This record gives sequence, C-alpha cells and structure tokens, in this order.
Amino acid sequence: MIVRRLTHALGYRYRLHSRKMPGQPDLVFPGRKKVIFVHGCFWHRHDETCPLTRWPKSRLDFWVPKLEQNKQRDLRNQQNLSELGWTFLVVWECQIKDREALAQRIIQFLEGL
Ligand SMILES: [Zn+2]
Repeated sequence: MIVRRLTHALGYRYRLHSRKMPGQPDLVFPGRKKVIFVHGCFWHRHDETCPLTRWPKSRLDFWVPKLEQNKQRDLRNQQNLSELGWTFLVVWECQIKDREALAQRIIQFLEGL
C-alpha cells in the first residue's frame, strides 16, 4: 500500500496485481515492461540479515518446507518473467520504512538508471 502510494506520488501509473503474470506482481508498468513485487520478509524469506525472517519457535517441520517452497516459487516466477522480457524489482517489507531510499530505488528502477 505504501509502495503504491509512493509510486503514484512520484508520478508513475501502473496496474495492480496482474493475475496473468508469473508471480502476480503487485505493480505492473506495461509500457516499460517492468514490475514491482512487494514482499513480506517472513513469507518470502528475505535474507538472513533481516530481523523479520526469524523462524517461528515451534512447528519448524511445518514452516521450513512451506517457506522454502515460497522462496523457490518466487525464484521460478522471477525467472519466468525475465524470460518473457520483463524486469522486476523486489521491495522488501523491511525496506519500506526508509521512504527516501525507497523512492530513489523505484525511480532508478523505472527509469532504468
Ligand atoms: Zn527484510
């Protein structure tokens, strides 16, 4: 939501959740052939340096395969998108707090800088 509003405020227009596209990206920029994913750090397994990816304390036998599967699916979807000629940006939940940096990343990504 924050990413959407920010992107909109930067003057970019996009479509939401394209169900036809691999991974159903959150923001789609058809003219640019670019998409943005906004990923929750826990569900999508941001890297180990991220405090939000800490494993739950119980039922690890359930969580590990489930979350590992999410991660693999993301990678597959991203690869499919690339093969279709799209470029993507992943915005992680923990990166949203710093609006300034986030805005810079979005601009750089969309302008191809
Ligand atoms: Zn994170």
